[in-house]
Amino acid sequence: MSRLNCPFCQIEEQQIIFQNELVISFRDGFPISPRHTLIIPKRHIASFFELTAQEHQALFEALHILKTEIDQEFTPDGYNIGINDGLAAGQTVMHLHVHLIPRYKGDCTDPRGGVRWIFPEKAAYWL
Ligand code: 5GP
Ligand code: ZN
Repeated sequence: MSRLNCPFCQIEEQQIIFQNELVISFRDGFPISPRHTLIIPKRHIASFFELTAQEHQALFEALHILKTEIDQEFTPDGYNIGINDGLAAGQTVMHLHVHLIPRYKGDCTDPRGGVRWIFPEKAAYWL
């Protein structure tokens, strides 16, 4: 996936909800919860591990700002913060993005385990 066919390199100005010098943020196009938000570096890189120290800092600053905004608007009860890094890990858009996923009490039957549910048969270690 190059810049030319990368959906995140085609994000339009009006979709951007926050940006700083190095990262931008917009809502996920297929949200799994209200205010599911993505944060990406402006630079087209695939992996979290390619971030410079400055981009890393800018990304985490944005994460905190966006979380505070969502808290004020929707008062979620928790968050999943996730990166699918690499095809084997489930990444479908090869431009690094951090998922900020607000969670709400009762939004699923039993939220225990969170990201462990990538392997449903191994998720519930407490049983
Ligand atoms: P991944 O599986 O790579 O971690 O997640 C890709 C995410 O990008 C998905 O949650 C999907 O809903 C979102 N997405 C894919 N294409 C677009 C798009 O064109 N616009 C927006 N806003 N989100 C997209
Ligand atoms: Zn891109």
